[in-house]
Amino acid sequence: MARVLIVDDSRTSRKILRGLLEEEGHEIVGEATNGQEGYEKYAELHPDFVTMDITMPVLDGIAALKKIKEEFPDAKVVMITAAGQKTKMVEAVRSGATEFVAKPFDRDSLKNIISKVVG
Ligand SMILES: [Mg+2]
Repeated sequence: MARVLIVDDSRTSRKILRGLLEEEGHEIVGEATNGQEGYEKYAELHPDFVTMDITMPVLDGIAALKKIKEEFPDAKVVMITAAGQKTKMVEAVRSGATEFVAKPFDRDSLKNIISKVVG
């Protein structure tokens, strides 16, 4: 079981992720709707890992990933990606992203990726 922070500006994505992660026995300790809030909640909650959407207002997922990794180098950040985000994915790898989960969500691949992250 892991303590998870979900960062996504889409209410639907947060709901789906929460449902899938809870089914796997993980605890959602917080949700944030933009990168800045995600960074602040990370610092407050110290979750075992974060799911980080890329396209968000205020501070996007790449900037939030950089901020979190700068202050907490051991942070595990799983980037949530959509089609057409190859360049962003490369930048995320360079910035220390732990793993990637593609939208639309697929139960089995999410499960595999999360078990790698937690294990
Ligand atoms: Mg988004």
